Amino acid sequence: MSQRTGVLLLVSGPSGSGKTTLCRKLAQEGEAHYSISCTTRSAREGEVHAKDYYFLSRKEFKSDVAAGSFLEHAEVHGNSYGTLKSEVLEFLQRGKDVVMDIDVQGAAQVRTCQDPLIVASVVDLFVMLDREEELRDRLSGRGTDSDEVIALRLHNAMEEMSHADSYTYRLLSKSRNEDYRRFKSLLTTERMRVSRLV
Ligand code: 5GP
Repeated sequence: MSQRTGVLLLVSGPSGSGKTTLCRKLAQEGEAHYSISCTTRSAREGEVHAKDYYFLSRKEFKSDVAAGSFLEHAEVHGNSYGTLKSEVLEFLQRGKDVVMDIDVQGAAQVRTCQDPLIVASVVDLFVMLDREEELRDRLSGRGTDSDEVIALRLHNAMEEMSHADSYTYRLLSKSRNEDYRRFKSLLTTERMRVSRLV
């Protein structure tokens, strides 16, 4: 049994900010459970069902919404995304930390959630890039999306960044290693909060 309750780390930021890589690495190192989201978007090349996402049809997604299975859900880039309660609550109860890659609308929903377990565990971080060109380069460099999709993501990224002030923490992205070092130190610090000790 853990001597503390878990940390629920919400990580938002524009596409191309590297937030998914940060979250995944934390999970790979065994530091936290990565909450696998549901989405109605198609899998990109190399993405695996139940590892990267649960890829659902619109109908399946709707029925999960109706069943109350989601902690939050939102429409992002024309597709539905949602976090299953089962990916979060039982881990937190066991004192396991959970990391979530989530858009600004979803983060707002989790932040206002009344569940005492969520209220006690939530920490939110926005991963930011300081230049639009840097963001454009990173989005094009991924090589998996069409020009049209990149343009849409860039537009959405600028919108997304306008919500950065709603977050408690901000990580201004520099290099992968430095970003990860600072990211992990946030979790290390949050684990020491006296209010989490049981
Ligand atoms: P992508 O399609 O590039 O994997 O993700 C697109 C956006 O959806 C990203 O901003 C990502 O943070 C967000 N996202 C991924 N999973 C969830 C989720 O479960 N809920 C919400 N609200 N957004 C999510």
